[in-house]
Amino acid sequence: MSGKNVTDMVLADAAGIARAARILESGGLVAVPTETVYGLAARADSAEAAAKIYAAKGRPDFNPLIVHVRDAEQAARYGSFSPEAAALAQQYWPGPLTLVVPRRADAGLADAVTAGLPTVALRAPAHPVMSALLEQVDFPLAAPSANRSGFISPTCAAHVLASLDGRIDLVLDGGPTTAGVESTILAVRADGSIDELRPGPLQIGHRTAGGETGARLEARIQAPGQLASHYAPGKPVRLEATSAEPDEFWIGFGAVQGDCTLSASGDVNEAAARLYACLHEAARAPQPRIAIAQVPDNGVGRAINDRLRRAATPPA
Ligand code: AMP
Ligand code: MG
Repeated sequence: MSGKNVTDMVLADAAGIARAARILESGGLVAVPTETVYGLAARADSAEAAAKIYAAKGRPDFNPLIVHVRDAEQAARYGSFSPEAAALAQQYWPGPLTLVVPRRADAGLADAVTAGLPTVALRAPAHPVMSALLEQVDFPLAAPSANRSGFISPTCAAHVLASLDGRIDLVLDGGPTTAGVESTILAVRADGSIDELRPGPLQIGHRTAGGETGARLEARIQAPGQLASHYAPGKPVRLEATSAEPDEFWIGFGAVQGDCTLSASGDVNEAAARLYACLHEAARAPQPRIAIAQVPDNGVGRAINDRLRRAATPPA
């Protein structure tokens, strides 16, 4: 923060993006729309700027950040791309795919960004505002979701202010995001094998050799992040509910109509786009508890159910 305790929110037009670029150059924090959720961006080559992300979010310092780049060419300055990793970048970037690859020794990234790991998580996002911003600056942007650590991710500018007002310099308002859940994360190992670390909007269908699922893999992974309790609305959450009690805010899906409905037509993509808005509404609602209808586990439904399981896990 530059000595003030109110966060400005501006339209993500050319003037807004130029102002954001200046703030980022001087080491400040800007919330920026991407196609997944709003990210809290800072220059990834500055230890001071990266430290501000952890401080504003209250994020544990062992949880590394995703580094956002314009394209695969810029990404190759920070990570080593095996042929398998390069092929994934070629096919899915720009888009909601994060690739975890070995960090280059000469990457010049702040150590805090990778939380001291020998790997780096890289993504070239597809949102026009984030892309325009990345074109205007000559450094990559570290950007986790723009919310206090452990709480519900933001899919519109108002969600960002709900948890970070006064803690960051600027919010670029680019309207609601479209994909609605965080990027798919794949780790590309030195032997060419690919592990899914987090399900997301893209169903790439990779599994470890033994056919291990993402959920079981996470339990085994010693890498930081992917915490059991996350996306938490601050009240108890009951999953796969077929009806709601009077003291429960009811989130429905398909034929099951709730106080808020993820998708009346039963479309998992629409449900993903509306997931965090419904959780924000549930968090604000007078009911002390939340009940959520079952969401099918196909397509992006896997990512929705991953987030809902974490939302239902009480903080440690
Ligand atoms: P967020 O930015 O909050 O959406 O979370 C970023 C996710 O990326 C976290 O779950 C991190 O654990 C994961 N991540 C970032 N860098 C790495 C890395 N080098 N290795 C494994 N996971 C990573
Ligand atoms: Mg997050």
